[in-house]
Amino acid sequence: MTIRLVIFVVAFMNLSSALPAQETATASPVPVATPTGITDPEVATRAWLETMPTNEKARSDAYFEGGYWLILWNFLVTVAIALLLLATGLSARIRDLAAARTSFRPVQAAIYAIGFAIITWALNLPLNCYEGFVREHQYGMSNQTFGAWFGESLKALAVALVILPIVFAILYRIFQAAARTWWIWGTVFGIILATLLNMAAPVLIEPIFNKYTPLTDPKIRDPILALARANEIPVQQVFVVDQSRQTKRVSANVSGLAGTTRIALNDNLLNQCTLPEIREVMAHEMGHYVLNHGAKITMSLAIFIFIGFALAAATFNRIIRKRGPSWGVKGIADPAGFPLFMLIFATYAFLLTPITNTMTRTIEREADIFGLNAAREPDAAAMVALKLGKYRKMEPTALEEFIFFDHPSGRSRIRMAMDWKAAQLPCDGLR
Ligand SMILES: [Zn+2]
Repeated sequence: MTIRLVIFVVAFMNLSSALPAQETATASPVPVATPTGITDPEVATRAWLETMPTNEKARSDAYFEGGYWLILWNFLVTVAIALLLLATGLSARIRDLAAARTSFRPVQAAIYAIGFAIITWALNLPLNCYEGFVREHQYGMSNQTFGAWFGESLKALAVALVILPIVFAILYRIFQAAARTWWIWGTVFGIILATLLNMAAPVLIEPIFNKYTPLTDPKIRDPILALARANEIPVQQVFVVDQSRQTKRVSANVSGLAGTTRIALNDNLLNQCTLPEIREVMAHEMGHYVLNHGAKITMSLAIFIFIGFALAAATFNRIIRKRGPSWGVKGIADPAGFPLFMLIFATYAFLLTPITNTMTRTIEREADIFGLNAAREPDAAAMVALKLGKYRKMEPTALEEFIFFDHPSGRSRIRMAMDWKAAQLPCDGLR
C-alpha cells in the first residue's frame, strides 16, 4: 500500500507500510535453462543470477539506483515546502484565516489542517507525478492512464482531508493543554494513531483504491489454505486485489493488525506466476503473520515516534525563539508552527533511512526463511527473486544493501534458497 498524501500522515503510514511489505515484480520469462541440478549453493546462486539477461539487469540497476536519488529529492522537497510555508508567512496566514472563522481552538487547528493538506499536496504533485507516473511508465512498470493516476492522487488527498483535521484537532488540543509535557503526550497520541491507521488500512483505506475479492479458483486457493492450516493461521479465505489497474508488478501483502489482518495476492501474481512460485510468495507473507512482524514493527515505530518527539522537544522552542517572530509562529501550541514540526521529523526520518531499512530487511529475511521452510520450493524461491529483480538491483555492494535495501537483494535471496536446497532436509514423501 502506498498512499502518498500529506507528509505527516505519510511519515507514519509509509513506515507502517513497512509491515504490508509488498513483494513486487513485473512478469519475467522463465530462463531458457534453469540451474536446478547444481548442488553447490555458491555455484547454483551464480548460475541463477546469470540467467538474467545483461540488458534487463542494467535496466533494473538503473531503476533501483534512481530510487536512491528519489529518497534525497523527496527529503529536499519536504524541507523546501516547510521553509516556504514558514518564511513566506503562508502558514501564519492559514492560521489567521482559521482563527477568523471560529474561536474554538480544535476547530481552528482542523481548518489549518485542510489548508496545509491542500497546499502540500499541490507542491508535492510534480515530484509525485514523476515518481509515481512518468518514471513507472519509462521503465514499463505501469499501464495506468494519467487520468487514472491523477484520480488516485485526488482520492489520497480526500483521505488526508478526512484524517488530518481530526489528527490536528486532537494533537493541538494536547499541545495546548500540556505546555511542558506535550512531547510525551504527543508520543502517546502518535503511537495510538499509527496503530489505528494500521488496523484501519485493510478495512477502510485500501478498498478506496482497489477491490478485494475472495480467491475462488480451488487449484490455487486450496494449496494456499493448506499452507495456512499447516502453520496455524486462522484464515478461511485468501483475497485477490485488482492491482493490474495500477501496475504490471506481481505483488502480495499482509496488512492490518490484530483482528483486521488480511493476506492478499494481486491479480498479476495469479496470472504470471506458477503455483510453486505463488506458494513460495504466500508462505513468505504467512511468515510475517506467524512471526508477529506486525507487533514488532508497531513497537519499533513506537520507539521511532518517541525519539522523534524528544528531538522536537529539544529543538522546536529554540528555533521558534529565534525565528518565530519573523514567521508569525508563537510556539508549539500554534498550528502555524506545524511545518517546523514536519521539518524536524522529516530530517530525523531521512537520517535514519539505513536503520529503518535494515530493520525491515531483517524481518523480510526472517519471512524468507519461514517461506522456504513452509513452501519447500527453493527453485521457485530463486525464480521469484529473479522476477523481483526486475525492479530491485540484484547484486548491490554490501554498503548499498545496508543503506538502501528494505528487502534482501536478489542475490541474498537466491543464496538463501540454494543454501536451503543444498542442506537436503528430509521432506517426508513430499518429493
Ligand atoms: Zn515480506
